[in-house]
Amino acid sequence: MKYAVLATWKMAEEGTKKAAKLLAEGKDCGEAVIEGIAMVEDNPAFHSVGYGGRPNAEGRVFLDGGFMNGDTLHFGAVGSVEGFRSAVRIAASLQDGDANNFLVGEGAERYAEAHGFERRDNVTAETLELYEKEKERLKELSAYDGHDTVCFLALDQSGSLCAATSTSGLFMKQPGRIGDTPLPGVGYYADSKIGAAAATGMGEEIMKGALSYAAVRFLKDGLSAQEAAEKAVSELNDTLVERNGYANPMSLIVLAKDGSYGIGTNITFTYCYASDEEEATVHEIIVERE
Ligand code: ASP
Repeated sequence: MKYAVLATWKMAEEGTKKAAKLLAEGKDCGEAVIEGIAMVEDNPAFHSVGYGGRPNAEGRVFLDGGFMNGDTLHFGAVGSVEGFRSAVRIAASLQDGDANNFLVGEGAERYAEAHGFERRDNVTAETLELYEKEKERLKELSAYDGHDTVCFLALDQSGSLCAATSTSGLFMKQPGRIGDTPLPGVGYYADSKIGAAAATGMGEEIMKGALSYAAVRFLKDGLSAQEAAEKAVSELNDTLVERNGYANPMSLIVLAKDGSYGIGTNITFTYCYASDEEEATVHEIIVERE
């Protein structure tokens, strides 16, 4: 296979088409994953990423994002950033250098401002409407009452792999809360010699198993992409059920260096895949939860 792209949720469909087109033109995987995600960040119809994202407990939208270059293993990440158009673009720009690759809050915003990243108020009328409607019920809301992360993995024609993520995080999250999405090894990981992985679901649960890194290690041990994805999710799910009596939702996408892919999930999950052999397609995995 010459190139491939794998992304979380149906919301990534148009972005997957765009990323596949860029890869077909010979563009690198970094450009493909960033442009794919930026399309989702800019679309207010998707309520868990970028513009029109889910509000926190104070009715404000804070973004988390990450990027990893599978050739160098360099990563860039931002957490809890308010008032900028694209978390993933800011994150990716932080990959250079050996320090200051992960910035949060005010420091990340000052960096973005100083480096000319586009500002945008991501709170839309719909965000506020949702907030007003739900804030009375705040205490009754379960932790998984609305969120999702857009994650993109890409293999380019030179054999490089990249991973990137972006989210507004948990609906009604506490100010300052950061999930798995910007954490390398947890929300995403890429190694061009092995494969790449990225996660969506309840961040606090995904952190307990460093899910993306776990899957890439399983690939390194010789498992196929599908075996690695399933094993990473089922091991963590079973451990959490054994220790706590339940496991919150988590889904994982895995792309091997040969362009084959796998999915692990403990909930019904949609994802998009495209390659030089397959047009961009949305797939669904149905999981019945007790
Ligand atoms: N993982 C994200 C977070 O915990 C949310 C999601 O992907 O559903 O912030």
